[in-house]
Amino acid sequence: MSNILPEVNFFNGFYIWFNKETKKEYYSTPLYYYKADYHIDYDNHLLDIFYKENAKTDNGLKHPATLYFPFHEKLGLLLLRFLNADLSNYESAYKTFFYAYGFEILKDLSDGYISELSNNYGSDEEYLKATNRIFEDLKENLINLQYELKEAVTYIYNLDNNKLFEKYTYSERFAVYLIKRKGSLYSYYKNDLILRDSYSNKYKEFENTSEYDILDSLHTQNMLLSMSETHESTDLSSICYAILEELSKTPNYPIKKCQNCGMYFIPNAKTDEVYCDYEKENSKPCRELGAFQSYTERLKQNKAMGEYRRTYQQKFMQVRKYKDNKKLAKDFETWKKQAKEKINDMKKGKLTENEVYEWIIKYK
Ligand SMILES: [Zn+2]
Repeated sequence: MSNILPEVNFFNGFYIWFNKETKKEYYSTPLYYYKADYHIDYDNHLLDIFYKENAKTDNGLKHPATLYFPFHEKLGLLLLRFLNADLSNYESAYKTFFYAYGFEILKDLSDGYISELSNNYGSDEEYLKATNRIFEDLKENLINLQYELKEAVTYIYNLDNNKLFEKYTYSERFAVYLIKRKGSLYSYYKNDLILRDSYSNKYKEFENTSEYDILDSLHTQNMLLSMSETHESTDLSSICYAILEELSKTPNYPIKKCQNCGMYFIPNAKTDEVYCDYEKENSKPCRELGAFQSYTERLKQNKAMGEYRRTYQQKFMQVRKYKDNKKLAKDFETWKKQAKEKINDMKKGKLTENEVYEWIIKYK
């Protein structure tokens, strides 16, 4: 590792940095773009990567990365994706994680046996053979790392809803998790080189812009070029540690576990959101399903109330029609009292809307 940031193309390593204000993370690493494609935003110097089932490598050729065209994504997404990754086999692990982040990130996890990933494997087959071997050799390590991170996240974000921990902040729980050496997280910071950004590093980015234009845009748009500390690491555990540390210092930005599918997510709007909004292959996102479920619950409640009003009217009319029938009047009074109790129980949540509806139908 070098202790300065690369200014031009590089073929090795993994770099990540964060912007807490905009809740974004940026990373840069060389990739082969197998089952992956990207969009380039030339105006903002950013890349978007996405999964693409039929995309092949460029004959096993490694594509270099640069720091002034990084990938960008929601702050914490790499960690979330790793927590949610299906590590049961190469294909599922690739589809849920590695297509976006590549294999540079595993070098230090292998105790040095992955020395270099070739710049040119010559074919898709060779690339797949090499990366399959890396995955199979590290699979147990990766599953263990994922387990450790889940344990840490559960504690730091109090996903077990432990009443005793409720009043503490994420960063307080993060600190105690490390101090008390709960799990292995405390040992994961080692392979992380934190590099200070410097304006000299912007040289390449503004190569073709005159000094007056740069001064002008800084002055008139009242902006400063963003600089941040960059983490250089080829150890997935250290990168996850760095992200978790950053997240734990970001208030009102919790990691949650979806109440429908169990995937880890960070809510986009409300911090008390209980459903994720990940795209699903065969169903709607959980948040839409959740909204739909509570909508049908409301409908059922309306259904019970509607049936109650209709039945009330019918009984009332009967009592009026047969004024002399004392029993009918008495039964109506009893029914009214019972129906009121049922409806109150429904409002308190003691009975479901459906149970009340069924009761009304039964004693019509
Ligand atoms: Zn979900």
